[in-house]
Formats: sequence, C-alpha cells, structure tokens
Amino acid sequence: MATIAELDIQLIGSTSFTKPEGVQWDTEASDSSAMVEFAGRACYETWDKPNPHTAANDAYVRHILDVGHLTVLEHSSATMYLRGVSRSCSHEIMRHRHFSFSQLSQRYVPAEEARVVVPEAVLKDERLTQLFLQTADVAYEAYGELLDGISESFAHEPNAVLRMKQARQAARAVLPNCAETRFVMSGSLRSWRHFIGMRAAEHADPEIRRIAVQCLGLLRSEAPEVFGDFSITALRDGAEMATSPYVSDI
Ligand SMILES: Cc1cc2nc3c(=O)[nH]c(=O)nc-3n(C[C@H](O)[C@H](O)[C@H](O)COP(=O)(O)OP(=O)(O)OC[C@H]3O[C@@H](n4cnc5c(N)ncnc54)[C@H](O)[C@@H]3O)c2cc1C
Repeated sequence: MATIAELDIQLIGSTSFTKPEGVQWDTEASDSSAMVEFAGRACYETWDKPNPHTAANDAYVRHILDVGHLTVLEHSSATMYLRGVSRSCSHEIMRHRHFSFSQLSQRYVPAEEARVVVPEAVLKDERLTQLFLQTADVAYEAYGELLDGISESFAHEPNAVLRMKQARQAARAVLPNCAETRFVMSGSLRSWRHFIGMRAAEHADPEIRRIAVQCLGLLRSEAPEVFGDFSITALRDGAEMATSPYVSDI
C-alpha cells in the first residue's frame, strides 16, 4: 500500500551580512534585514539615520514597502529544502520565475517506495483515502512492471546506468500527480514575498497555500522585519492563510 508523505520544509540557507569598513552605521537586525536596510541607505548614504521615524530597521523596511523600493529586498535571499510535496504542486511552485530550483530526478532515482501526497479534502474521509491510495498503488505497480519490461528490452545496452535511466525515464510517465517530490528552492526576499502573497491567499490551492504559510513562518524567524506585515488567519475549514496590506504591491 502507498504511504502518505508528510510535508517537511526547512530553511537551509540565508544571507550573511558583513558591514563594510568605513561606514558609520549599525543595526540590531538580523543579517537578512540588515542587508535590506544597508542597500536602501547605500542609495542616499543616510548612514546617520536622519529620519527618526525610519531609524529602526523594521520601520525602515516598512518605509521601503510603502514607497515600493522593492529592489533592495533582492539583496537578501533564502533557500528552503522541501519534502513531501506532490508533483502537481511542485509544478505550480516552479512557475515562479525568479526562484532557482533543484528537484529530485525521476530519471535517475527510482520510485522504489510508493510515497504520495494526499489532498486534505480526501484525507478527511477514510473511504476516499483508501480509494486514493489503492489508485496510487495501481500506478506504482504498473511503474514497476514497466521498469522491468523496458529494462529487458534494453538488455543489449552494456552500460547498466544508461539502461536503468532509459527504463526510468519511460516508466515514470505513469507515476501519478500525487507522487512525492523533493526540491531545493532559492530566491530573493522580494520573490519570497511575491510567492507568499499569491500562494498563501485564500483562493490558492490548499497544498501550495500550506507550503506558502509554512515558508512565511520560517522567513519570519529569519527576517521578522521583512515579513512582519503578513498576518496569518484561519479559514473556515481550519486551514491557515496569510495576507499583507502590501500584497497588491508585491
Ligand atoms: C489562482 C491561480 C490560478 C492559476 N491558474 C493557472 C492556469 O490555469 N494555467 C496556468 O498556466 N497558470 C495558472 N496559474 C499560474 C500563473 O499563471 C503564474 O504562472 C504563477 O502564478 C506565477 O505568477 P507570476 O507570473 O506573478 O510570478 P513570478 O513568475 O514569480 O513573477 C513575479 C513577478 O515578476 C514579474 N515578471 C516575471 N516574469 C515576467 C515577464 N516575463 N514579463 C513581465 N513581468 C514579469 C511580474 O510582475 C510577476 O508578477 C495560476 C495561478 C494562480 C495563483
């Protein structure tokens, strides 16, 4: 029987900021938020913080959002490693063109285990969950048979790695949309804000919305000043969504 893959997202990389020598400016903010303020102040060399209303890093970042000077957010970046994501959801995520991705290869890594992501709407119902898992089993059984059959037809190929690759790349065509995938996702904080603004919204697909909300939580810990304007609320079904007053500007 297919097993259910659980969503797991970890922040594995973020910006490191080193204040250059000879600049009389300091901040208590995290590296990622400090980088944003530094980039903004570098445009006008306002190292002495002449405006008391934007002296603190969070107020400065809020001002950046107010005036739409969003390019300064591009100097800080964050990298996540995501597991337990369906192939269909990963396809939606990878439509966001300002991110870099490295995804688990179905051509090189065989789907030895049937690991699938089950939509929340299905999981609520025991009978539908069983139906879902049985259907996935059929696809994975066919995958295994195709793998064996295609490998045999390439028996003349002396290179075993190539032989298996040819078998996997053809057999994977029957793997379902719910098959688990894993990938590394890197982008600037501007890109992350845009992604969260679009995908943590109520109308987004529940799986990508859950991912966007979890990414927001991780990014908030890393750069609270840059993501503090988002508020997380519960929808009627208990799922979480996030919005920001700046959402139309990101
Ligand atoms: C509710 C919903 C339903 C959807 N349904 C479908 C669907 O049925 N079919 C489908 O194919 N897709 C669908 N999509 C995906 C959608 O079309 C986008 O591909 C995806 O949301 C990425 O959005 P984006 O282009 O704003 O983001 P990104 O690629 O992250 O780009 C961010 C921003 O950069 C700017 N930008 C990026 N590239 C360019 C460019 N080439 N020229 C000018 N500006 C650029 C734009 O301002 C853009 O908003 C859907 C998305 C949502 C949220």
